[in-house]
Amino acid sequence: MALLSRKDVDVNYTWDLTSLASDDQDAIQRAEQLTKDAVKFNDAFEGKLDTPEVAIEGINGLKKLSEELVLISTYASLRLSSDQSEPEAQKLSAVLGNTRTNYASNVSFFEGELLEKEDSFLNEVKNKAPEYKGYIDELLRNKPYQLDPKVEKVLANFSNVFSAPYSLYNITKLLDLDFGSIEVDGEEIPVSYLAFEGGLESNPNTEIRRKAFRQFYDTLKKYENTTAGTYDIQLKQEKTESDLRGFDSVIDYLLHKQDVSRELYDRQIDTIMKDLAPHMRRYAKLLQKANGLDTMKYEDLKIPLDPSSEPEITVEESRKYIVDALSILGDDYVDMINRAYDERWIDFVSNKGKSTGAFCSSPYGDHPYILITWSSLMEEVFVLAHELGHAGHFYNANANNNIFDTRPSMYFIEAPSTMNEMLMANHLLKNSEDPKFKRWVISSIISRTYYHNFVTHLLEAAYQREVYKMVDNYETVTASDLNRLKRKVIDEFWGDDVEITEGAELTWMRQPHYYMGLYPYTYSAGLTIATQMANRVLEEGQPAVEDWLEVLREGGKRDAVGLSKMAGIDITTDKPLKDTISYIGSLVDDLEKLTEEIDG
Ligand SMILES: [Zn+2]
Repeated sequence: MALLSRKDVDVNYTWDLTSLASDDQDAIQRAEQLTKDAVKFNDAFEGKLDTPEVAIEGINGLKKLSEELVLISTYASLRLSSDQSEPEAQKLSAVLGNTRTNYASNVSFFEGELLEKEDSFLNEVKNKAPEYKGYIDELLRNKPYQLDPKVEKVLANFSNVFSAPYSLYNITKLLDLDFGSIEVDGEEIPVSYLAFEGGLESNPNTEIRRKAFRQFYDTLKKYENTTAGTYDIQLKQEKTESDLRGFDSVIDYLLHKQDVSRELYDRQIDTIMKDLAPHMRRYAKLLQKANGLDTMKYEDLKIPLDPSSEPEITVEESRKYIVDALSILGDDYVDMINRAYDERWIDFVSNKGKSTGAFCSSPYGDHPYILITWSSLMEEVFVLAHELGHAGHFYNANANNNIFDTRPSMYFIEAPSTMNEMLMANHLLKNSEDPKFKRWVISSIISRTYYHNFVTHLLEAAYQREVYKMVDNYETVTASDLNRLKRKVIDEFWGDDVEITEGAELTWMRQPHYYMGLYPYTYSAGLTIATQMANRVLEEGQPAVEDWLEVLREGGKRDAVGLSKMAGIDITTDKPLKDTISYIGSLVDDLEKLTEEIDG
């Protein structure tokens, strides 16, 4: 079926962006005004932060400017993500790109000058304006690593150059790589990133799946040296900045940004590599048996356990499932969900040029927006529950904090979203007696939620840590190093239970995450908190729900350890993680039992 153009889709299933900006013209006019206001801000405050009172006035001004920037930037970026090929949306996005650059160059002096002040000055600001405690505390946390303002300015001016490796990575990936096609039973099947990750790698037809794997990885192989060279520049940059700022290790430098200790980071990787592996190997065996495979290969790990048991669902039907599953979170939460459907916060349609995947954007000062492409498969209720989890998080956090205090550490970001996936699964399991449907629910929790967060991204994290160890020794990283490290991690996790096909080691080439700091390990961190929280809700009901809503309202006012503590979960010990891994093990047990029951 050919994709519709954006102008031909049913407008009732698109998002309504008018509360961000009434139209493109409005956004452009406001962007021009914002640039003028940023210049005025610069004139008023640069070199003039002599008293705490003036500094507070400055923070007030900065708050207003950044709130406006968020609204119009979000408008432009959502316009573009609904149709990347639309010339008006591209133009708008370019205009906002310039606005942001102008804004940064007019406003960046402010933090630099505050960081030059004595601690006593900053503490006085905090005492006189307690609402800015979070903002000032964050400055104080960064102060020891701050460089001379002139050096900071030079670094800021190089920011476009410093982001070049990521741009080059995307150019190779999205423009240069041509995967061609494969032929199965006389039929030609085109291979691309989108086609491979969006279906070929999990295709139940073994010949299609394995041929696609060969074609995909043989093509990647041709670009391994360019991709490794690009990545090596990124690593050298990070190491140089880490040295300049006085960190002993690039890992510590990257963790500082998340306000997370080395212990928490290492534990996540070490414990999952060791304790989760046996459960996932059992799951692989089950996949092998259910699909009648002689050997279980690396390229078979993403196949569904039972593709025939997934029901279909419409957008209208999804509302009832979502409301029922999440109603435990209270009337306000349900009210938000109903508003999301009624007031068109969600873009459901499928059209040419629309961004793939799903995301939630929660601009401060407005309600959240969700992008999803509705496939009409039951799986979408999990995707939507996940995105509504981000929405519910920032709907609460934005309403209860100023713009500086809303975002928690990356360590915590995926907790509210995956929590909703768990609530959805628990709801579906509770309300069905059909073993095939139950097996489908549990297997989707394993193959989507846990596989994605605890296996795919965790293996990335384990590999990434080895790479940074080389970087800390000032070694140059080549394609053969990266292949060796990635292969070692895959071998260690799957052991002899999965045959690791040549090419699997190139999996490091697939992820953009490596250009975003220590991102990969945070997926499992968030889901650990979510699993424990969902189990608390199952066992304790209302008191656990109250704690969780309190955490959502807290925004970014505490670090990940503090937020988890509010949720009754102590992540300074390994108990939450160990309990989560045992829980995954119990889900695999359930799958084994249900499979026996179904097969008779
Ligand atoms: Zn998410």
